[in-house]
Amino acid sequence: MPDLKLYVAGGCEEHGRNCFLVRFADRAVLFDCGVLHDGDLVLDPLLDARMVRDIGWAFISHSHAGHAGAVGFLESLGFSGTYVMTGRTYSQLGSVPSRCRIIDGEGEPLVQERLDAGLTFRWGWSGHCAGSAWYQVAMDGGTVLFTGDYSERSPVYPCTPIRSLEADLAIIDCAGGVEEQHSYDEQVALLLGVVGANLQADITMVFPVPPQGRGIELMALIHDRFPDAGLFASEALVWQAASSLALADVRIRSSKEAWNYKGSGHGCCVFLSDPQFRPKVIDFSTRLVERCSVILTGTVEKDGPYADLLKTGRAVFCRYPTHQRLSDVHALAEQNRFSTVLLADAPAGAFDHVLGSGRYAVCQSGTGMVL
Ligand SMILES: [Zn+2]
Repeated sequence: MPDLKLYVAGGCEEHGRNCFLVRFADRAVLFDCGVLHDGDLVLDPLLDARMVRDIGWAFISHSHAGHAGAVGFLESLGFSGTYVMTGRTYSQLGSVPSRCRIIDGEGEPLVQERLDAGLTFRWGWSGHCAGSAWYQVAMDGGTVLFTGDYSERSPVYPCTPIRSLEADLAIIDCAGGVEEQHSYDEQVALLLGVVGANLQADITMVFPVPPQGRGIELMALIHDRFPDAGLFASEALVWQAASSLALADVRIRSSKEAWNYKGSGHGCCVFLSDPQFRPKVIDFSTRLVERCSVILTGTVEKDGPYADLLKTGRAVFCRYPTHQRLSDVHALAEQNRFSTVLLADAPAGAFDHVLGSGRYAVCQSGTGMVL
């Protein structure tokens, strides 16, 4: 019988603020520490100084705010343990203390490593953005698998498939929810169809994307299908594209040059690293919106400016899947031995129809379970 306690500080029955505290028999570890954007509010995980006192290790899956945006908050509570993450994640976050174990410095995916007395872990690439990783952590009392954001389909980012692993508790990304009407390939075909039509009509398209992640994947897919399309991007994305094998030979220009672009009668694609229209680029972007087609490819905050654009028909929504959906979680559960699967990072009620039978569970933020 496992001897595990889970406390969900955020990230279950809500999208964002991923933060899971697991207590083994005599050790405590944390998986991710993200924030939740709710309108103008930025919510930290539901943690306090007493809870973090004995946490020895904080495993960080990747640098997105919903997974790592509350590291400063964790420090302010007096966390004195060690962070665990990849080198890319560490450099993207910038402000993580040096108490950090960089897993890909010497270690390799799937190789079991020791942390301290009795605590071991292995990791793999999770295919979600540059440097993203999943973890399996074990000690007396049980084994926990944490995927962070996970995708086996990325055309750009490496993924170490999770296969034949055991876990008493598997905390699995299911942010893609239950949207089952289109497969990944169909959604990509739909998106590329929209891009092709705009290019043909000589329309400039604006893609707001996170600073890390799907922007690079979208550029690779678009370049592969439409090699003559002009590609422009925010500086951080241009830099990332240059270090990505899939785009190393592709010319990607600064987004500032896009507005004077005269292609060969084709439109172009402009990638802005600002997924939710934050104030620093809003003037710039608002001006653009009048002349461009805005294409939204990820979750739209319900009261944010993009929701307004959608309502008024000035943007189109065409999802590019970077998360697992429930059908992907089913497949993962079939290929491994998980006793309990916590469905993470999706809004309340999304999975009610699969709860109560079998191994699937949700656990509201601020509550926990004993395994
Ligand atoms: Zn993410």
